[in-house]
Amino acid sequence: MRIIEVAAMLSKCANPLCSMPFQYLRDGKVFQVELDESGQLCSAGASPRKPSRTERFWLCGPCSVRFTLAFDRGKGIEVRPLRAVSSSAA
Ligand SMILES: [Zn+2]
Repeated sequence: MRIIEVAAMLSKCANPLCSMPFQYLRDGKVFQVELDESGQLCSAGASPRKPSRTERFWLCGPCSVRFTLAFDRGKGIEVRPLRAVSSSAA
């Protein structure tokens, strides 16, 4: 368990260009990512393995309407503009 790291991730907006302090459930959107022991994403129904850790990220109100979070195995969490998401994922 890495409660301290999770808390640190939630201390501010996940957008590196934004410094909005965390206001849980008051505004914005929380993203939860479940990873298995090898650090790979556990998508719902796709893996029977139990996630070994859960990481949470928060986007503040203004950021959550313009951006979303995407998980990349190599890079971790990435902030992406919402309008670009619908094009090819590969
Ligand atoms: Zn923000």
